[in-house]
Amino acid sequence: MSDCLFCRIVDGTIPAQKVYEDELVLAFKDIHPQRPVHILVIPKKHITSLSTVLPEDADILGRMLAKAHEIAVDQGSPDGFRVIINTDRVGQQEVPHLHMHIVGGPDPVGPMLKRL
Ligand code: 5GP
Ligand code: ZN
Repeated sequence: MSDCLFCRIVDGTIPAQKVYEDELVLAFKDIHPQRPVHILVIPKKHITSLSTVLPEDADILGRMLAKAHEIAVDQGSPDGFRVIINTDRVGQQEVPHLHMHIVGGPDPVGPMLKRL
């Protein structure tokens, strides 16, 4: 999907500050961080949102969650973090390529974040 922003980050035509990568997922710093640690974890394969996930995508979703703690610790959030997946119109998803926010830092993130 050459017209998809996050697919272009995967293929390298748009730069990003990558913090983790394997054969299934890529993690990079959010361009407008809401907390001291704000990482986006995305599937390398284009999946539009949680509403278009297929049964065979389970390994990808599992990898995204399974790597969250490691990425959070590595990025400076050793004592916990929050994950958020905004989905479609009601979830106010802005980029139509599935992504999981990891937000954290040294201090508690507070109540539900206002806008991610
Ligand atoms: P959403 O609202 O769709 O859940 O979150 C989209 C996120 O992508 C936002 O937090 C926004 O700051 C981030 N973002 C949008 N464009 C770019 C970009 O070009 N590079 C990076 N690193 N993050 C982006
Ligand atoms: Zn995409």
